[in-house]
Amino acid sequence: MRVAKQRQPSNRRPAIQLQVKTVLNAIQRFPGFVFRDIRLHRYRDGQPRCIEITVQPHPAIAAKCSRCLKPAPGYDRLEQRSWLFVPLWGIVTRFLYAARRVHCPEHGVVVEHVPWSQGKRPVTIAMMCFLSRWARRLSWRETARAFGTSWECVYRSVEWFVQWGLAHRKLEGIESIGVDEIHWGKSKRADNFLTVIYQIDGHCRRLLWVGKRRTKATLRRGLAALGEPVVKGLRFVCTDMWRPYLTVIAAQAGQALHVLDRFHITSHLNQAVDEVRRAESGRLRGRPVAEKLKKMRWKLLRKGSRVRGRAKRRLYGLLASKLATGRAWMLKETFQDFWRYRSLTWASAFLDVWTTRALRSRLEPMKKVARMLRSHEDLLMNWFKAKGEISAGAVEGLNNKIRVVTRRSYGFRTYNAMEMALYHTLGRLPEPEEFTHRFC
Ligand SMILES: [Zn+2]
Repeated sequence: MRVAKQRQPSNRRPAIQLQVKTVLNAIQRFPGFVFRDIRLHRYRDGQPRCIEITVQPHPAIAAKCSRCLKPAPGYDRLEQRSWLFVPLWGIVTRFLYAARRVHCPEHGVVVEHVPWSQGKRPVTIAMMCFLSRWARRLSWRETARAFGTSWECVYRSVEWFVQWGLAHRKLEGIESIGVDEIHWGKSKRADNFLTVIYQIDGHCRRLLWVGKRRTKATLRRGLAALGEPVVKGLRFVCTDMWRPYLTVIAAQAGQALHVLDRFHITSHLNQAVDEVRRAESGRLRGRPVAEKLKKMRWKLLRKGSRVRGRAKRRLYGLLASKLATGRAWMLKETFQDFWRYRSLTWASAFLDVWTTRALRSRLEPMKKVARMLRSHEDLLMNWFKAKGEISAGAVEGLNNKIRVVTRRSYGFRTYNAMEMALYHTLGRLPEPEEFTHRFC
């Protein structure tokens, strides 16, 4: 048997030492610029404080006009500025550079194009991308702490990243959208509602637009942001029975099949059952029969088939008691059958029978739902026409994801910050790849 010879550690230094410059050039090279001087600054106790990388223009390459990107003769030089770069070995790292001004034949005297910089921002594009990518995995505060920067810096970075993504995203091939309202924050003021537009096609589900409030004007703004070609190309629109949305969709996307979302109807029914239960437990307070309603809220709101064991026995007990809550629950449960129909005629007949029963139930909240369903029967029936074409549950799924982000809302100090976070996590936005591929 051969024993592999162990390699002896070499005492000789390799001819070429790895320099920070070499790493930098391998990660990100900016044609027309060279990394010149790299310094490590220390605290008094010798601990590293920051790394400063001085950038110089390449002597043989002319500066470019920042507006047209064409080479232009130099004019003068501005004062040195610094840009925060991705930290090296966890040490705060900055670029230092004195930008030139050029005399462009077309644009006059302007600052040159600096490829790592965006306007007056004190952070390099690479660092903004780096922070943004981390801000999807950690909270913004944690991101700031982990990389030695501020919450504000993370926010500005995400904002830039999102704007870039929105400007470069493709809106072709959108066939189905879901429109919904989301409540965020504590108060019920109009400003605490958001209107969201999702793409809910099988091949792509994403947040397309989000805006404050839930009025006609809001949705009009949203559709305008998507643009006429997108709106006119829609085949399916899925919404709740919210009047302002219905009106705007009918006016602007009349060619699309307008579908009422199953999950919205279920939640209206659930709300009605809950209202009945609350009113009834108020009426029965102090009487022994009220015991049957105690701690039943979640059991009543779940799908009947998902309630098991002891909870199920209590539910049956409630039904046997002939309490109003039990009857309301039964109505809600039987409505589930509606969605199983294949034939429009039968579904429509079922709806007629069900609503008649509900209207005779003497349960005001259930009657209200029945009236609502009757007045939107056309849209409700569209659900069957769109069956198999739009993914049921897509809107609900995206809503749940939105909740995860908005629940962190105390972390977002402004509405705008939250809006950015929503696009950032759910918008599936494209990224400036030349600045992201090496960094995270
Ligand atoms: Zn120019």
